[in-house]
Amino acid sequence: MACVTIVNCSILLNGESAEPFNAAKGLRQGDPMSSFLFAIAMEYLSRLLKGLKQDKQFKYHPRCSKLGITHLCFADDLLLFVRVYCGGMDPMQKAAVIQALSYTEGQLPFKYLGVPLDTKKLSILQLQPLITKMVAKITSWTAKKLSYAGRAQLVQTVLFAIQSYWAQLFTLPVQIVKLIEAYCRSYLWSGGNVLTKKLLLAWEKVCLPKSVGGLNLTNLQVWNSAAIAKTYWDLTHKQDKLWIKWIHAYYVKRQRIDDMSIPQSASWMIRKIFEAKQIINQLHRPLDEQTIIIKHIYLQLIPIHSKMDWRCLMFQNNARPKAIFTMWIQNHGRLLTKDRLKRWGLHMDETCVLCQADKETREHLFAECAYANRLWTRLSQWAQVHSIVPNIWIQYFQLIIHHSKGKTASAMLLKMMYVEYIYVLWRERNTRIFEGASREHEALAREVVSMCYFRADKKVKGLIQNL
Ligand SMILES: [Zn+2]
Repeated sequence: MACVTIVNCSILLNGESAEPFNAAKGLRQGDPMSSFLFAIAMEYLSRLLKGLKQDKQFKYHPRCSKLGITHLCFADDLLLFVRVYCGGMDPMQKAAVIQALSYTEGQLPFKYLGVPLDTKKLSILQLQPLITKMVAKITSWTAKKLSYAGRAQLVQTVLFAIQSYWAQLFTLPVQIVKLIEAYCRSYLWSGGNVLTKKLLLAWEKVCLPKSVGGLNLTNLQVWNSAAIAKTYWDLTHKQDKLWIKWIHAYYVKRQRIDDMSIPQSASWMIRKIFEAKQIINQLHRPLDEQTIIIKHIYLQLIPIHSKMDWRCLMFQNNARPKAIFTMWIQNHGRLLTKDRLKRWGLHMDETCVLCQADKETREHLFAECAYANRLWTRLSQWAQVHSIVPNIWIQYFQLIIHHSKGKTASAMLLKMMYVEYIYVLWRERNTRIFEGASREHEALAREVVSMCYFRADKKVKGLIQNL
């Protein structure tokens, strides 16, 4: 430690620095040396502790003797395992011994690496920090005005990441998963941190892959099962890890892991891992032993649905994410057009605000409406897709799908233009109803064209320049 003594400190006294003095031991906070010194010290301590194995007086922890484990060391945490008898001691004596050894008596559950460790099933109360963390995150976002697409992105990345660490370690109770989902769902549809039942589409649908009509958000319950199943798979395939060696030494022993029954004496977490054998057994495709990740199991566990014919519009589409989101709701027939609001019992003027000539329905607004027709005609002239005419909604939509398939530049341009067309029309309708302002179809056409130009990739840009 001699090298450490070169550190010197000076104290500011009444605004003036006093005579510097050398430190006898220790490092300045944040010194890059400290982590190396710590590693050296821990290495030395580890060697000393390993020496205990030769000491006949040393009593292993009852579950550590087979593998000769005396301690585990991770980052700045050190777990020591030893058998200590306090039998027959009165509490005063025991306290004196603990004090003499400078230890504090701990008990389960305790928190390690951010999660509670216990041999029993985790209580709802123990899982509460997870919920609190998620709600705090959502609360920090509520002030921001984000589109549905922005919120969906936050739900998928940030909120999912918070729970995924816990979900890889524990089987989360259904009640907790439902609560987490309720917060994610409420934030997506309302932008707030208060639970609400107002939603345009069921959460199960939102969590499906894009090809079958979802947004590809993660189904937390299925993901949790997949994560625990992956742990079971590791148990059967990766025998070089210490925790797996330990389970084999104490529970599997000489049995075949696939045939053995669940060890009832094991802790709740280990029993849950063994129970996940059923999940692995129900998979319909074999797993690739080299590259297995949780997602491979997850994709096999989500229910099979038939593919949507409009799935080509959802993939490799360079339109704005918020425009794609609007089209996605529209494809499901869930935009709140006036005919739908009327069915819910709301009384209002049903006339289309764009043409003032007919009732507002999805079919009218996006295909039959004279205003929409003028906008589309302008766009189709620009993109040279004269054959697609929006007279009858279903025929128009089928033509869009038909011409959007494939990876040609014209298909890419068409699907981007169509999505932006749906979005600007819907926004125009809302601006007219809620803000009383209106724009000519020419202005909307210019917006769609410039969006297509700015967002197009190189191939599509080349096509646009030749139009
Ligand atoms: Zn109209």
